[in-house]
Amino acid sequence: MKAQPKASHFIDGEYVEDTTGSVIESLYPATGEVIARLHAATPAIVEKAIAAAKRAQPEWAAMSPTARGRILKRAAEIMRERNRELSELETLDTGKPIQETIVADPTSGADSFEFFGGVIAAGMNGQYIPLGGDFAYTKRVPLGVCVGIGAWNYPQQIACWKGAPALAAGNAMVFKPSENTPLGALKIAEILIEAGLPKGLYNVIQGDRTTGPLLVNHPDVAKVSLTGSVPTGRKVAAAAAGSLKHVTMELGGKSPLIVFDDADIDSAIGGAMLGNFYSTGQVCSNGTRVFVQRKVKDRFLSRLKQRTEKIVIGEPMNEETQMGPLISFDQRQKVLSYIDKGKTEGAKLLTGGGIPNDVTGEGYYIQPTVFADVTDEMTIAREEIFGPVMCVLDFDEEDEVIARANATEFGLSAGVFTADLTRGHRVVDQLEAGTLWINTYNLCPVEIPFGGSKQSGFGRENSLAALEHYSELKTVYVGMGKVEAPY
Ligand code: NAD
Repeated sequence: MKAQPKASHFIDGEYVEDTTGSVIESLYPATGEVIARLHAATPAIVEKAIAAAKRAQPEWAAMSPTARGRILKRAAEIMRERNRELSELETLDTGKPIQETIVADPTSGADSFEFFGGVIAAGMNGQYIPLGGDFAYTKRVPLGVCVGIGAWNYPQQIACWKGAPALAAGNAMVFKPSENTPLGALKIAEILIEAGLPKGLYNVIQGDRTTGPLLVNHPDVAKVSLTGSVPTGRKVAAAAAGSLKHVTMELGGKSPLIVFDDADIDSAIGGAMLGNFYSTGQVCSNGTRVFVQRKVKDRFLSRLKQRTEKIVIGEPMNEETQMGPLISFDQRQKVLSYIDKGKTEGAKLLTGGGIPNDVTGEGYYIQPTVFADVTDEMTIAREEIFGPVMCVLDFDEEDEVIARANATEFGLSAGVFTADLTRGHRVVDQLEAGTLWINTYNLCPVEIPFGGSKQSGFGRENSLAALEHYSELKTVYVGMGKVEAPY
């Protein structure tokens, strides 16, 4: 098989197998071919991984931040040296075109190790608080064993975005990738060992929605960071609440992208296309509700249609391919059923809407699709589709579009295209979202915090903010005088 790893899990510095776990078949989404056969973690494997993490963590936390950082930066270097190999694996795992994975996946993971490896020496400092004679100080301390649970759209990036800050802050991690994309995280674990990470600190176990709870409910786990859908987020947060674990929730969205009539239209179209079609639309922060001011609607739609119809769909390993398949047959069925709903509820299908007939094989391909004349109540404007389906809605006034953009349970991201700088800032100020862009879309470099509000989650990944979510404060009050007691 094309991408069979040495074993299903990576625990305590080595590959581990337990064939009594249920079978997970990894399919190449471009062909449906089985490229690896793995096993879900049994309760014994879960115990083994958590025990290894628990054993390794105190010594790691006691190392100087600079020494920890050096190892993480070395991991970043190795990832960059192996970018081609890792990108090909990511393409096999997800079906995303190599054109994307080569610039967006291992490189983003490497950025994360480099950033956290670099900032950690300064990032965990506490505060000195003078109290008029007495004083206090704070220490930022790691949480212990952290669990990461990933989605299937950015498997390597998610494995690194959770692993890098967790490790930098002095924690150990047990990471469970999505059952749809089990391969990339194993390579990250291997690379960390090669970079010098002591064994037991970054463990990967496979499994699905039945395995996740074994991790989330485990008494030795201090924190859970989930990237997934809102319904899964509710379950994981509820389970974590049972033992009051720290939680980060990176969940879904239905983000607004607002195009005012003074915007650079080509940039706005480019932003809307990137924010709907990149990774075949399987990006949580996508701006799937594109509000276009009425005066520029016709120009926007005609150029958008032309550009969308030129997107090159095909075999993801081909360097020319711009859009690969969706992750699975089921995901394609789901997206197609949303497209049907769009049609029956009266949206105008501008382009796409089906399975492309010029790609061969059994892959889960779908056409990039644009609906115009979408209204707020339509299902396609309210629910997360997680596929390349852009909804274009019209608007007239600034206040109106802000109210409509906010009329959703989600709050992950939002974007505004306008030439009026004052308006840009005024509008983003009123939009309810965790990550917002003015005159660009979906850029998430490691330096900036990323995460959602409302039902899209809480906690932040990337930037110094992530360190706060993988550590806690210890406050020490120091009395300098005699203790005076009234009794
Ligand atoms: P999902 O919610 O089905 O699964 C996510 C992960 O949770 C998987 O690893 C799955 O095995 C695990 N899981 C499922 N049920 C569980 C349970 N009860 N306990 C513990 N773990 C459980 O999501 P998906 O389909 O893999 O990914 C798509 C979703 O992820 C979309 O909604 C997307 O918006 C979201 N997403 C969010 C971000 C973000 O950063 N906000 C990034 C990528 C994807």
